[in-house]
Amino acid sequence: MNKNILVVGGGVAGMTAALEAAAAGYPTTIVEKSGTLGGHMAQLHKRTPYRAAPLGTSNSRTADLPQPIDNDVAELIAQVEANDQISVHLNSTLASTDGAPGRFKVEIATESGSTSSAEFGAIVQATGFTPYDANQLPELGYGKSPDVITNLELERLAKQAEGGPIKRPSDGKAVSSVAFVQCAGQRSSEKGKLPYCSGFCCTTSIKQAIYFKDQNPDCETTILFDDLRTPGAAGEDFYRAGQQKMVTFRKATVSGLEGNKVKIRDLILDQDDSLEADLVVLATGMVANSGPDPYAQLAFDEAEEGSEEKETLRKALEVAPPSILNLQYRQGTDLPHLRHGFNDSHFICFPYESRRTGIYAAGPVRRPMDIQQAKDDAMGAAMKAIQAAENAAQGRAAHPRSGDLSFPTFRKEGCTQCKRCTVECPFGAINEDEKGFPVYNEARCRRCGTCMGACPVRVISFENYSVETVNQQIKNCEIPDEFDEKPRILVLACENDAYPALDQAALSGTEITPWARVIPVRCLGSVSLSWITDSMNSGYDGVVLMGCRRDDDYQCHFVRGSAMAAERMSKVGDTLSSLNLEPERVVHYDVAITDIQRAPQLINDMAATIEKIGQSPFKF
Ligand code: SF4
Ligand code: SF4
Repeated sequence: MNKNILVVGGGVAGMTAALEAAAAGYPTTIVEKSGTLGGHMAQLHKRTPYRAAPLGTSNSRTADLPQPIDNDVAELIAQVEANDQISVHLNSTLASTDGAPGRFKVEIATESGSTSSAEFGAIVQATGFTPYDANQLPELGYGKSPDVITNLELERLAKQAEGGPIKRPSDGKAVSSVAFVQCAGQRSSEKGKLPYCSGFCCTTSIKQAIYFKDQNPDCETTILFDDLRTPGAAGEDFYRAGQQKMVTFRKATVSGLEGNKVKIRDLILDQDDSLEADLVVLATGMVANSGPDPYAQLAFDEAEEGSEEKETLRKALEVAPPSILNLQYRQGTDLPHLRHGFNDSHFICFPYESRRTGIYAAGPVRRPMDIQQAKDDAMGAAMKAIQAAENAAQGRAAHPRSGDLSFPTFRKEGCTQCKRCTVECPFGAINEDEKGFPVYNEARCRRCGTCMGACPVRVISFENYSVETVNQQIKNCEIPDEFDEKPRILVLACENDAYPALDQAALSGTEITPWARVIPVRCLGSVSLSWITDSMNSGYDGVVLMGCRRDDDYQCHFVRGSAMAAERMSKVGDTLSSLNLEPERVVHYDVAITDIQRAPQLINDMAATIEKIGQSPFKF
């Protein structure tokens, strides 16, 4: 098994990931598309500070507050170049990526057309971002006036100025007044704009306003904002540093430009106004370089030929960016996306973790972030990559079932080649052979059991977890007869959140109805519909399913397991009707590990429901 680490992208996140992995003793290769290392960071004049003022710093006007700091990208590049554990491929991309943790096989293609092959244990994708295209902001004067520029373009002007006066592009005059327009093309639901906050641009504007003030304290610098957001340790102190330098912060929205006049709506005075500026800087945001969404590709493949859906998907795919990883997976070429095109990650429990085991996203490809956050992120992703390579070498699962040596198998003679398992596996762990039979890839498998729950003919099982073993647990609960007046409630609780919440509730003395019998499951995605029908048939009065929160704000440890379960359970109502049973006998809840009071209450609610509707007629 190979334990070398591949880092895709040579910006600040990629370089940091490579340095961290190398420092831990893992040979690392960086594949960078452009001809240089450094990414966007290499274009910056200075960095925003990342340390707060020392404890006890006064609130006085002369307090020593954090200031823009020197860009240390050259140092970072030098460290990478000097590290004999790190090899760098510039002007290179991934022509193909196949395999699994511990044995990823990668074809690296250079601009000149040559290719080379290499093997890796795990991959960090740190492909960063593309600046938002300001040409989509003609209402803010971009493209109409050379003196309306983006925050990144200002960095280039500041670099050229080398500490001297920053000159405006139109006539080379030293800038004596500058307006920064926050959230340009961001935090907007308008078509073509970014609906999210990019998180770095408010502090960037403060930094850039200080460039002007440091050079010429009389320069009029105004930051026009609706909300000012200054994340990071230095954030609030850096805002104070801007105030100290007499940067004007004005709560206002910009309605347009007329010559060098910026027309605004002052949100404090609630009136229209304008201000003159030699230069207007648009605080534009980040668009993730995440490649095409593999699930859009899959949906296209599966949509009916000639259907409206197929056409919509075709159009979306036509404008999709080229693949970055070129994964040779049945489930598409790149990491799945979360909201707004950022690469997948389990942002609540397992940041960096993607739905492709052994491949970790780091930096702004994962979510918008600044340099320091990208560095921290890269360290985490590098550690996860090392862990994945080590786990694979020992045949162990990645978390949350870290250490699990079991893996799913299927009984070929019973398989109907329906492909449900390959489609529903959240981690792209199953391919298909030429006859359509599943081909399991154990090192990619996370042991969630979603394939097992999906299989309509129940031929998938683990040595230590199967439809049959849970069925036996269900059957071995004693069902009191009707004269005992003791209903029986089956609770299938996800072992990751719901079960620990119930455990905690019990430890704290919360009462749960004695009618309930709780069986932990790996993930609600592993729940077979047969467990529900069989339990109802054998006299249970109600079933409570408890899984993690699903969809985009998911906390499901297996990402899609809870969502898959919800989809399957939406059909339970029909099954109950066909058995002449009330639909309220089976309920499905999203439960978090913190729901220590709510989780038992949900079971007690089912007890109250049974009291109301009566016991199951299948007892009699
Ligand atoms: S157990 Fe989960 S990760 Fe493994 S193959 Fe089945 S669905 Fe995929
Ligand atoms: S879900 Fe079951 S029947 Fe369908 S392809 Fe997979 S193993 Fe075969």
